[in-house]
Amino acid sequence: MQKRLTLLGSTGSIGDSTLDVVARHPDRFSVYALTAHRNGDKLVDQCLRFAPEVAVVGDAATAQAVESKLRAAGSKTVVTFGPQALIDVSKSDGCDTVVAAIVGAAGLEPSLAAAKAGKRILLANKEALVMSGDIFMDTVRDSGAVLLPLDSEHNAVFQCMPHDGKHGGVTKIILTASGGPFRTREPSTLVDVTPEQACKHPNWSMGRKISVDSATMMNKGLEVIEAHYLFDLPGDRIDVLIHPQSVIHSMVSYADGSVLAQLGNPDMRTPIAHAMAYPDRIDSGVAQLDLAQVATLNFEKPDYERFPCLALAMKALAEGGVASATLNAANEVAVEAFLNRRIGFMAIAQTVDAVLNALQNRSATSLEVVLEADAAARRAAHKIIDSLPVPA
Ligand code: NAD
Ligand code: MG
Repeated sequence: MQKRLTLLGSTGSIGDSTLDVVARHPDRFSVYALTAHRNGDKLVDQCLRFAPEVAVVGDAATAQAVESKLRAAGSKTVVTFGPQALIDVSKSDGCDTVVAAIVGAAGLEPSLAAAKAGKRILLANKEALVMSGDIFMDTVRDSGAVLLPLDSEHNAVFQCMPHDGKHGGVTKIILTASGGPFRTREPSTLVDVTPEQACKHPNWSMGRKISVDSATMMNKGLEVIEAHYLFDLPGDRIDVLIHPQSVIHSMVSYADGSVLAQLGNPDMRTPIAHAMAYPDRIDSGVAQLDLAQVATLNFEKPDYERFPCLALAMKALAEGGVASATLNAANEVAVEAFLNRRIGFMAIAQTVDAVLNALQNRSATSLEVVLEADAAARRAAHKIIDSLPVPA
């Protein structure tokens, strides 16, 4: 049966890759809803190509502009806006599959709505799971939703895990990490890096927020937390291994000494096509891996001094409660401030650390508690950033 998609964050990097896969398989997939925040013109182009029933944007002015362009072009797509509209298209009977590809905390409530409605959820928006871990996983379980990871590492782990719902013989998950653009840069010069340098990832082309997270390795920290919830393993059984080529996307090790890995060219269309068609396999548009051409695969241990954000995320996971939501919110504010040149690169970790120390942890008993922790961490982060000097 054809799958009908709501694509949250369709104008982003994951959104583009998802629509590329959709376009290759019109017999398998159709689009119910597309959503964007402010990039109305790109959303209009996508609507004219994929003819969704609904398009959602962030505000009334963008909605009006999108609507008039669509009408002028003869499109019937209904245009709505705002956070409730995102929730509505995520739980609608019009779709069976929700691709969660909004960046940051803004994606939590629509993703959770999809989980409550028992949808098949293809999750790229790791921040949603980092914030609400147990609540999200409990909701998925209670509603009978199916959660499939799009994040390349987690998709790789999913492919290498036993699929009987048990962890028979699994000893560890090994998440690989490229190490980002600053893996070998002299640590004393990291204070001076610019947003442009931080966003220039050696292997992947991604949105700006996750690119900065990759440069600080907060991304890998968020992914350890994500893996903990997705695969129900404690933090001390989730290793991080630097692998600069990004060819092995992650591994699972077993009691008998076996290690299973998933390999491929670094292109998000592979994990996206995997999750979209699962359990089938379809063409993703990605070239087959040529290992003779790659020739060498390297590995090294992560350097926690160079990448303090990685250690902070591990600490937040070990503390439990709302610490991961606090970490995530502080990081979102700090990354935004870095991208706006308000703080330097090393001040990202400094801000997150200070916010974690300033705020009291508590158990994550409800979504309200999580959202309160998120708001408190944002306020605390802004206060710390206000006290920091503007970089030269
Ligand atoms: P992006 O910045 O390219 O796109 C983000 C999308 O979210 C856009 O469509 C934007 O309009 C929308 N958006 C932003 N703020 C919003 C808000 N407040 N309300 C509603 N919509 C909003 O980001 P991306 O690189 O595509 O990443 C999306 C998510 O996928 C992130 O959580 C990221 O960590 C995760 N992810 C991305 C990649 C990748 O290769 N890009 C890989 C793994 C995981
Ligand atoms: Mg990843």
